[in-house]
Amino acid sequence: MSETKQMEALVWLGPREMKMQQAAIPQLHPGEVLIAVRAAGICGSELSGYLGQNSLRVPPLVMGHEAAGEVIQSAGGTFADGSPAHIGTRVTFNPLVTCGECDRCRVGLTNLCRQRQLIGAHRPGAFAQFVAVPAVQCYPLPANLSDTIASLTEPLACSLRAVKLTQVQPDQSLLILGAGPIGLFALIAARAEGIKRVYVSDLSESRLAVARQWGATETINVQKQDVQATIQKITPDGVDTVIDAVGANVTRAQAVQAVVPGGTVVFIGLHDETSSLATNYLVRQEITIRGSFSYDQSDFKRAFDLLAQGLLQPGTEWLEERPLAAGPSSFAQLVDGQVTATKIVLRIN
Ligand SMILES: [Zn+2]
Ligand SMILES: [Zn+2]
Repeated sequence: MSETKQMEALVWLGPREMKMQQAAIPQLHPGEVLIAVRAAGICGSELSGYLGQNSLRVPPLVMGHEAAGEVIQSAGGTFADGSPAHIGTRVTFNPLVTCGECDRCRVGLTNLCRQRQLIGAHRPGAFAQFVAVPAVQCYPLPANLSDTIASLTEPLACSLRAVKLTQVQPDQSLLILGAGPIGLFALIAARAEGIKRVYVSDLSESRLAVARQWGATETINVQKQDVQATIQKITPDGVDTVIDAVGANVTRAQAVQAVVPGGTVVFIGLHDETSSLATNYLVRQEITIRGSFSYDQSDFKRAFDLLAQGLLQPGTEWLEERPLAAGPSSFAQLVDGQVTATKIVLRIN
């Protein structure tokens, strides 16, 4: 037997337990490429995973599904854009591996694939020197797109889908509850789609400052302001559409109260497992409630194209880059609310 080559990896070992360890470099299957990871963002879903509250993630596990890096080995195949999977190409990748054959895939709902696998949950992820990914999931980066910004394609794709599902029109209004990464990315996604009136609520003044910088029409600090009363002042009839990027009982109730009769509320946040809602009110006001989960290929491609066009520039207030070795302390600080930046991206190699 040949000796398995080793790499440095950030391994999650159980609730609140994460360590830098040696791990085997992934072996490639036909059609896969090995990526030397350069940048990998920490996702909110991984924080619940870190705490052991996410059944999708079983230790020991290398997480990391928001990443970019350089292809250093190829087992054939083509990239998402149809070009041959060449070594030396910088790429980001769609971490949601789908079967393409089940009933959900066949109707285009690949995000709901019956056999879907997430790199960094069902397969080893990108918080490591190397990650194996099907070539067809990889998007070659233009020279002007940095690895760090490219690693944000995945969360932006989640936000884009939520905005798409609201069906908000440019002359309509959108309220986003929560200015974490998904809420803030929904804001820029909505602005990119030409939505002019976008209101954002949060309890953090620094996050709301980022929201204003990114074009929020109004921000609501829920520590000082009542969401419904403030919305009534801004737009007396209510908002046309709402995205709840928190998913707490209180924000779900706020979403329903703020929307106009006949309006649409999209739930993307996953804070509380169950919530009780004013269901008879939903019936009488014909309010549409939709869930939004991850993204399909078109959402991912759209997010990638927007970033390639320069939608996001690194900024000190919202993005913090740290070395991979700072992974364990970063996870601990994030779950304990000790990080001011909206997003942490780990830099590798
Ligand atoms: Zn993510
Ligand atoms: Zn499928």
